[in-house]
Amino acid sequence: MSAGQRQLGEHVLYVTLEQVSKAYRKGVSSVTALKGVSLGIARGEFVALMGPSGSGKTTLLNLIAGLDTADTGAIHIDGREQARGGEGARARWRAETIGIVFQSSNLVPFLSALGNVELPLLLHPVSAGEARRRARKVLELVGLEDRSAHYPRELSGGQEQRVAIARAIVSDPKLLLCDEPTGDLDRASADAILRLLRTLCDEFGRTIIVVTHDPAAAAVADRQILLDKGRLTGPDAGEAAGGG
Ligand code: ADP
Ligand code: MG
Repeated sequence: MSAGQRQLGEHVLYVTLEQVSKAYRKGVSSVTALKGVSLGIARGEFVALMGPSGSGKTTLLNLIAGLDTADTGAIHIDGREQARGGEGARARWRAETIGIVFQSSNLVPFLSALGNVELPLLLHPVSAGEARRRARKVLELVGLEDRSAHYPRELSGGQEQRVAIARAIVSDPKLLLCDEPTGDLDRASADAILRLLRTLCDEFGRTIIVVTHDPAAAAVADRQILLDKGRLTGPDAGEAAGGG
């Protein structure tokens, strides 16, 4: 086990945050988004990240994703410090390790479902044929093999979000981060997404962090993490950062 890895019970921690703080500055004013957040998530765990609007959920997810950097504190993923290395190396590592799903699917409108799912593989050293084969396989996994030639405008909101999940998992990332993936969906579509995420966790061993307001999503998760005004509340709040 490397220096960045700690235990949660018998589980090796996959994601750790130690005293992470983040403020957004604009001119002389500053908005604190996260204050001293320490947290551990085990490999293969499915966590729901909850809290009121503005409590720092998206900020926390972006920091774990490496899309933004913390002011202070450290984030490790699989024992590797998130902020380490140059921009190019970090982008490559992120593409291999992390899949991200946003509230709006952000599909490219002029590409088919299959074309959208193939897109991230441009960053990977795979042949066009292999990219197509993998894209078809994950579209099948999300139950949309019969929609592969359809454009985003020809899909329902739930189907678009399933394509977005297929796109997020096509490069086989170990960590899947989802920011309110069911926020814009009706109940039945939202439940289909939640079942899919549960399957990715149970059958494919993925570690999943979902930001959500949906009590059903929280119920599907193994654990809930609660944020309020940039601080953890609930059972995780007292977790010591320096242990291990
Ligand atoms: P949540 O996702 O829980 O709604 P956010 O992480 O988006 O919360 O925001 C946390 C706080 O940081 C809020 O007060 C928000 O206004 C502020 N904030 C978020 N992003 C920015 C930004 N890019 N610039 C300035 N303030 C921001
Ligand atoms: Mg948010």
